[in-house]
Amino acid sequence: MEFEEASRRVEELRDQINEYSRLYYEEDSPVIEDDAFDALTRELRRLEEEYPQLITPDSYTQRVQGAVSAQFAPVRHEVPLESLQDVFSFDELREFDRRVRETVQNPEYVVEPKIDGLSIALEYVDGRFVQGATRGDGQTGEDVSHNLRTIRSIPQKLASPVARIIVRGEVYMPRESFAALVERQELAGEKTFKNPRNAAAGSLRQKDASVTKGRNLDIFVFNLQLIEGETISSHAESLERMKELGFHIIPFYSVFTSIDEVIEEVERIGEKRGSLPFDIDGAVVKVNDFSQREWLGSTAKFPKWASAYKYPPEEKQTTLLDVEINVGRTGVLTPTGVFEPVTLAGTTVSRATLHNEDFILEKGLSIGDTVVLRKAGDIIPEVVRVEAHLPGAPVYQMPHRCPSCGSEAVREEGEAALRCNNPECPAQRIQNLIHFASRDAMDIEGLGPAVVEQLVNAGLVCNAFDLYSLKKEDVAALERMGDKSAENLLAAIEKSKSVDLFRVIFAMGIRHVGQKAAKLLANRFGSMDAVMQASPEEVSAIDGFGEIMAESVVRFFAMPQSRHFVEQLRQAGVNMQRQSAEEEDDAGIDTRFAGMTFVLTGTLPTLKRDEAAAIIERYGGKTSGSVSKKTTIVLAGEDAGSKLAKAQQLGIRVIHEDEFRAMLP
Ligand code: NAD
Repeated sequence: MEFEEASRRVEELRDQINEYSRLYYEEDSPVIEDDAFDALTRELRRLEEEYPQLITPDSYTQRVQGAVSAQFAPVRHEVPLESLQDVFSFDELREFDRRVRETVQNPEYVVEPKIDGLSIALEYVDGRFVQGATRGDGQTGEDVSHNLRTIRSIPQKLASPVARIIVRGEVYMPRESFAALVERQELAGEKTFKNPRNAAAGSLRQKDASVTKGRNLDIFVFNLQLIEGETISSHAESLERMKELGFHIIPFYSVFTSIDEVIEEVERIGEKRGSLPFDIDGAVVKVNDFSQREWLGSTAKFPKWASAYKYPPEEKQTTLLDVEINVGRTGVLTPTGVFEPVTLAGTTVSRATLHNEDFILEKGLSIGDTVVLRKAGDIIPEVVRVEAHLPGAPVYQMPHRCPSCGSEAVREEGEAALRCNNPECPAQRIQNLIHFASRDAMDIEGLGPAVVEQLVNAGLVCNAFDLYSLKKEDVAALERMGDKSAENLLAAIEKSKSVDLFRVIFAMGIRHVGQKAAKLLANRFGSMDAVMQASPEEVSAIDGFGEIMAESVVRFFAMPQSRHFVEQLRQAGVNMQRQSAEEEDDAGIDTRFAGMTFVLTGTLPTLKRDEAAAIIERYGGKTSGSVSKKTTIVLAGEDAGSKLAKAQQLGIRVIHEDEFRAMLP
């Protein structure tokens, strides 16, 4: 690569890396997977190695990432909390060993699991815990002492009153606690954490310690930063000393003298990775002897005496047993693969989306096939490839009738999805009602998927407005209901009549209109009547509103059935006016694409381009018609032409629909 081009690429990489890091470290909400992120940082490192004149002090390669939020008091780290040099192959580990041996003789190495959590420092004076802080930018962290006090495995008092000690550890969320938390969040209709690492970071960086307390965090201590009044000469010795003092140290570690043994241990840890009760993303190799460490020294970002081997995402083979078809709120039929259960990245996986008809055809999937599954971002299972086709088995055919109502399922031109267009379809009704009652919409407590299904199946509710004429005796007669629950449910339905206007707008389920857009509409127009009368120009003039969303709103309210729906809600007594003149409140709204510009090109397998654009806008992103340096991501489908070529030329990240979907909640 020529210098000019390299320099442009370095700039782009830094912009992208900075943005992804901000989302990861500050918002605890990554939008790309770690291996994709690591590929960007590796490319940057390679270019900087080739053109050292391009290195700047603020480059990702030169400083510890992370920031200090104004929510917490800053804490200056007496001993900096460095990062680690990542390596991705055993050759690179051998290279690390060679470099170490250039400076010191006969090094001993300690190999430990690399826990996937967040780094913190704990300080004790006279054996008592005084302060704990996050890594932050490595020099200054955030004071999270109040939250750390809720973690039971962090001793408040040490076994002996050491004058002063600072230790470093990794706060993590055990897999079991993570699974339970996600389940709770799903039930409550809240945004779920992507993986245990982000859940741990999000739970520790809380203002309210009682929230942290309920999250079941734990800690492994892995480094002695400073100790007064004692001389310790090696890492292994320091681990044992910290254990004696009452710390939960790293769960296992071993000492070796040759790089071959080190590599064998790294492989062994990789094999048991899936069966550990916590997530690890690598193994750390550290020089054991402290005086040798001094000789080796550090760069501005990481010590030269350690190296972190990163494992690739875990994959497992299994068998496709069945395909289930679910009908969504908009009538789309989505196939879900049912597999022989396998343990993947710590949890049992038996289902994964098969996206649509094209995905199934492209992979040639048949029931009985042996497939390889992987967890994207270590959380959402996906089919990577078919390992072996079951001989003679026919490729799975999507049904051409809706499994819920039996109407014909149609695939419109340019779409990959099969859709049931019957507005009376019970499955769609149920999904619409679930959405209507959900926490972000009308927030009707107690009206979850199971109760909605019961109400629809018993013929008590057809449309959302029927909820408001439910009779207590009918509800109480439902299975597992009873008088008290029926009373509570009716009270919650009654209460929903007075929710704010934006919730009612969101609850209507207008295509492409998320909660944020609903707020913008409510704030701009003030009443449901005014929203219904708004012209496309008026709607699209709202700052933050895309054209596609505007069109969708106008089209929705032009339909007689939508107007009828509003009328019925109004007659039932549902509020149709904005109540508070509050400022638009963005808190809790998912703006995962804020600051990102997407360019769409080619035909996507399931989404129409305008749908994808609307999704991007809904989550705070922008779309643009042409690829430039400002583009963050190009979402490419089949037959993508010059835009794709331009993106490749400029080195802009190109993703396909699957990856795009994985970025969504
Ligand atoms: P790192 O996470 O790769 O390594 C350093 C950290 O490892 C230390 O802070 C330490 O807390 C931790 N650690 C765990 N166990 C340890 C042990 N036994 N010994 C020593 N340290 C141990 O480095 P980083 O600079 O914090 O972050 C880079 C990581 O974050 C990469 O994995 C990257 O993929 C991920 N990341 C992802 C995104 C994204 O958008 N997906 C964005 C930014 C960063």
